Amino acid sequence: SLFSQLGLSSPIINAVTELGYTAPTPIQEKAIPVILQGKNLLAAAQTGTGKTASFILPILEQLSGSETRRKKRVRALILTPTRELAIQVEENIALYSKHLPLTSLAMYGGSRIDHQKQRLIEGVDVLVATPGRLLDMMSQRAVHFDELEMLVLDEADRMLDMGFIEDINKIMERLPAERQNLLFSATLSQQVRFLAKTAIDKPVEISV
Ligand code: AMP
Repeated sequence: SLFSQLGLSSPIINAVTELGYTAPTPIQEKAIPVILQGKNLLAAAQTGTGKTASFILPILEQLSGSETRRKKRVRALILTPTRELAIQVEENIALYSKHLPLTSLAMYGGSRIDHQKQRLIEGVDVLVATPGRLLDMMSQRAVHFDELEMLVLDEADRMLDMGFIEDINKIMERLPAERQNLLFSATLSQQVRFLAKTAIDKPVEISV
């Protein structure tokens, strides 16, 4: 399929085919190969363009490709502005990883802390979180990022509008310096570009 031409393998292609996706959307065509090359990305894309799959699919591909360990450590972190978006993104991960041995968790204010701690102990490959709750869990030492490979800032413009910049900076300070960074935003405002400049080394820039 056209998805295979982007470098995705059959467990992922089968999952999206079963969902009725026949071809990648423009943002997926542009973003997926760049992410699979391990490059940092700065992407301008609105909701409804298929932007969520454009980062989830290559993240799953990268994580399933590496033969290494099951250290039960978070390997990809996706930050979202709201709990609704965190839930929605995690639901998509669950759908797309149906044929892969990867686990995901949404963590947001109001969700049950004891339950989430237990899930983290059992092992979570992809964590989707809102910044406030994540910082909380980090300060309780309930989550460890020593094996983190990839960071996504989803709807970065909204996170900045909601005043999350300090939380985001605090989180990023505590992540391994060597990691792949992906920033998605509806608009690439001055503020977003400033965040990108401080957080992301030499990103490939795309827009749809
Ligand atoms: P998003 O822009 O990420 O909010 O996605 C918008 C909607 O498009 C979601 O309901 C996805 O399930 C759907 N979608 C994403 N990629 C594709 C695709 N390649 N073909 C058909 N639908 C898609």
